[in-house]
Amino acid sequence: MELDIVTLFVADICVLVISAIAYTGIFLRHRDDHYWLLWIGANLVLASGLVVYVFWPDVPPHLAMIGDALLIMGFALRLAAVRSFGGRRTRIVSSLATLLAIGTIVAAASTYSVGFTLVNITLTVQSLLIAYEFWRDRHDRLSSRYGLVAAYILMATSFATRAGQGLFLPEQIITYIPYDPVLEFHLLIALIHVTAGSMLVLSLASERSAQSLEAAANRDPLTGLFNRRAFEAQLRKCVSQDAVSIILVDIDRFKAINDRYGHAAGDAVLRKVSVVFSHVVGTHGHIARVGGEEFAVVLAAVRNHETLIIAERLRQAIEAEAVPFGPHTIRVTASLGIAHMPQAGGDPMELFKVADRALYRAKASGRNACILDGSGSLSTTIEKRNWRSQQVNRRASVPLHLL
Ligand code: GH3
Ligand code: MG
Ligand code: MG
Repeated sequence: MELDIVTLFVADICVLVISAIAYTGIFLRHRDDHYWLLWIGANLVLASGLVVYVFWPDVPPHLAMIGDALLIMGFALRLAAVRSFGGRRTRIVSSLATLLAIGTIVAAASTYSVGFTLVNITLTVQSLLIAYEFWRDRHDRLSSRYGLVAAYILMATSFATRAGQGLFLPEQIITYIPYDPVLEFHLLIALIHVTAGSMLVLSLASERSAQSLEAAANRDPLTGLFNRRAFEAQLRKCVSQDAVSIILVDIDRFKAINDRYGHAAGDAVLRKVSVVFSHVVGTHGHIARVGGEEFAVVLAAVRNHETLIIAERLRQAIEAEAVPFGPHTIRVTASLGIAHMPQAGGDPMELFKVADRALYRAKASGRNACILDGSGSLSTTIEKRNWRSQQVNRRASVPLHLL
């Protein structure tokens, strides 16, 4: 099979330009995402470099080298773009100095094949660096980045092959752009690379914006905890799989704090309490802010008596916390209602109601109390005065199984 070299170059140029147009459309709607400018710049610079190759051999040899320089510059912009996407800065001055040094070495190369090899080694290294930048942020679980890593490793392999050609078969590289089967294959890979790469950059960005929208829909902006919507979803999921317990927590006389110190002080207390929650509950359960000064914890795979210990620890930890606010130190207490679902598959909303009734009783008992209400019967009441966990270690970091 013979491929037409010029057609392959033109196809690459079209994909690069069309992608740049698509990136521009997105950038106009998300002007804070500066990495789009770098992707647009990279695509246009690369496309210009390929235009030089299309018109070769009609361009003078010294101008033909501009094609190589634009290619290296385009990859440098791509590296800056992916770093910017990952929240990292690229030092433009040191990048330009590096490019200048590479350009000087290539220009000073004794023969064309040496320059050709150096250019392709540079492009191999740049492609591998870009692949690494996509790979290093994989903890964000955006699946498109794996496709991009593959696309850049593929391109790096092709550039490395070209470098090998210049190194070991220099007699083939006597003229600019040797028209040979390796070039045909290289351009085919480049076409796959630019097509897949351009689409995956779009899908990576859209995956990330979907992820942040989902996070915004599920998180409470003040405390960073899950919101009620996420809590109910988590509760339904846990209930269908396990026997679960929930703890509802309501800060006592919170309105008085707002009235006395102001709304900002109330917010500071809510933030501090949410930190206490995270310390005490840790990985044992999912914590949410389900209302103004109301929090909830869902615990799965935790034994019932351990839930009671966690609840009492929460109560004690909130009571012990001092929240500094200006010249004031604010202290709060909380009332807690606990409910167990003894087996999987019950009604989660019913469990919520049972815990709410227990919470109501905790308030009625004088506040700053934990009350357990099993199956709506108000059967077991745990008053803070006779609660056995008062004898246990209050440090939140003690693992439950040691208690
Ligand atoms: P109780 O002990 O019976 O729970 O009394 P309370 O004062 O805590 O309960 P109440 O329901 O009367 O008041 C809750 C207050 O919480 C009223 C509201 O202004 C305040 N609140 C709700 N959301 C926020 C918030 O995001 N920030 C602040 N600062 N206050 C909030
Ligand atoms: Mg309340
Ligand atoms: Mg309250």
